[in-house]
Amino acid sequence: MLSYKLRLYPTKTQESRLDNAIDSCRMLYNDFIFESRLAYKEGYKLNFDELQRMLPYMIPKDKVYSKAAQMVLWQFYNNLKVLSSLSKKGKRIGKLRFKPKSRYNSINYNQSGFKLLPDNTIKLSKIGKIKCVIHRKIQGKIKEIIVKKELTEDWYAIVVCENEIKSICSLFRKKIVGIDVGINNFAYDSDGHVIKHPQFLRKSEKKMKRAQRKLSKKVKNSGSKWKQKLNLDIIHQKIKNQRNDFLHKASRYYVDNFDTIFVEDLKIQNMIKNRHLAKSIFDSSWNSFFQKLEYKAANAGILFAKVVPHGTSQSCSNCGRMVKKTLAIRTHCCSYCGLVIDRDYNASLNIKQSGIDSLPTGCREVTPLERAPLAVI
Ligand SMILES: [Zn+2]
Repeated sequence: MLSYKLRLYPTKTQESRLDNAIDSCRMLYNDFIFESRLAYKEGYKLNFDELQRMLPYMIPKDKVYSKAAQMVLWQFYNNLKVLSSLSKKGKRIGKLRFKPKSRYNSINYNQSGFKLLPDNTIKLSKIGKIKCVIHRKIQGKIKEIIVKKELTEDWYAIVVCENEIKSICSLFRKKIVGIDVGINNFAYDSDGHVIKHPQFLRKSEKKMKRAQRKLSKKVKNSGSKWKQKLNLDIIHQKIKNQRNDFLHKASRYYVDNFDTIFVEDLKIQNMIKNRHLAKSIFDSSWNSFFQKLEYKAANAGILFAKVVPHGTSQSCSNCGRMVKKTLAIRTHCCSYCGLVIDRDYNASLNIKQSGIDSLPTGCREVTPLERAPLAVI
C-alpha cells in the first residue's frame, strides 16, 4: 500500500459540509461507546452484527456517506479488539474514551464514494467536487481516501493505493551503499557522502519553545490563548512538513543512486548501546527515514536491508580488529593497520561489508575485503 497526500481546497460550503460530516462520525463513534457501556452494565456484550444493525438509525444520512459511517464502526470495533487482546495478554487496560472535537479530524471513504477527476478535483459523496492539487501521477488502484483536517485548518486527502511491488530486478549487485546514521551527522555513507542534520529544525524548535512559553502565560479559555494555540499548531505543522521534506529528499537520493542499500537495525542497536537523551530525539526521524527508504526501494525494485549491528562503530573496516572508542572520539585510528578515517565513515563501511556478507555469494559483485581474525580480548 502506498499513499499520496494531496492538498485540498474546499469552498466555504464544502468546508462546513466536511466539518459536519466529521463531527457526525465523531458523535457516532461516541454513541457506539455509550451503547456498549449501557449493554455491558446490563451484563451483555454487543457484537459487530448488532452494532451494524443499529447503524442506520444512528447517523444523519444526508450528511454522512453510509460507507464512511461503516468505517467508523469498523474503527470502533477494531479499537475494542485491540483492548481485549491486550487484556488477554495480562496487560492492564482502561476503557475506550469518548473523543472530543479536538481529537477527531478525519473521515474515511473506503472502496467507494470518491472519484479523482482529470480537472484536478476530487468528487466526494455528500460533499461535492473539491479542488485539489494532484502534484504527481497516482499509481495503482485507489483503495480509500481519507480526508483530514490538520490543526492548521488545512485540508488534505490521503489517497491510499494498492501497488504490486516490483520484484528485485537483478540479483547482480553493483552499486552498494552502507549508511550509518548518527548524532553528529544525520547520515554518513560508505561513499563518503555526508548528510548533515538539518539546521532549520533547530531554528523552528527555538521558535516553538518561545511560542509554548507564551501560551503558558495566557489566561485560560481566553481568545488570545486560543490564538496562541493556533500559532503553535502552525509551527508544529511547519516542523513536520520540513522534516518530511528533508527525509523524502534524503531517501530519494539513495534510491536514485544505488541498487542496494544497507542500514543498521536501530532497534537492536538501542538495546545494546548507550541511552543518550539526544538520540531519542532523532530516533523517530531515523525510523521514518528507513521507512521511506524501504518503500521507495521496493517501488524502484532495488534491495534495501537492515543488518544486525555487530561492533559497527568499534571494529576497523580495513583489518577487522576491535578499536575501542567512546562516543566523544570522532576519528577512527587503527593502531593495527594504521587506518585513520572519520568514525561514522568507518561505521558505514562496516555496515556495507556486513550487508555484502549477508548476500548469497552469487550476488556479490564486490569481492569482500580480506579480514584478519578478531583480536582476542
Ligand atoms: Zn585496522
